[in-house]
Amino acid sequence: MSEAPVTWYLRSIGDQDTHRGVLRPAEGTVTAACGVTFVPRLLPFGRGLGFSGDPPDPGQVCPACADLPFGLPHPGPAR
Ligand SMILES: [Zn+2]
Repeated sequence: MSEAPVTWYLRSIGDQDTHRGVLRPAEGTVTAACGVTFVPRLLPFGRGLGFSGDPPDPGQVCPACADLPFGLPHPGPAR
């Protein structure tokens, strides 16, 4: 039950700036696997905010997010 869907969010439309993370609806921000927090951009073509599965353009994927084993930093208080 601890498995979350793999979801990618665009921080920008630039290269290596699509991150894997979890959306925190209360704040409207995404906490990414690589540690960044950002407000996700809407996807083109009305596809909403995030997408699951493999990103369509590997060149836009954050290398840190792609390399990290699945598992997100706990969005709790910093240690
Ligand atoms: Zn990232």
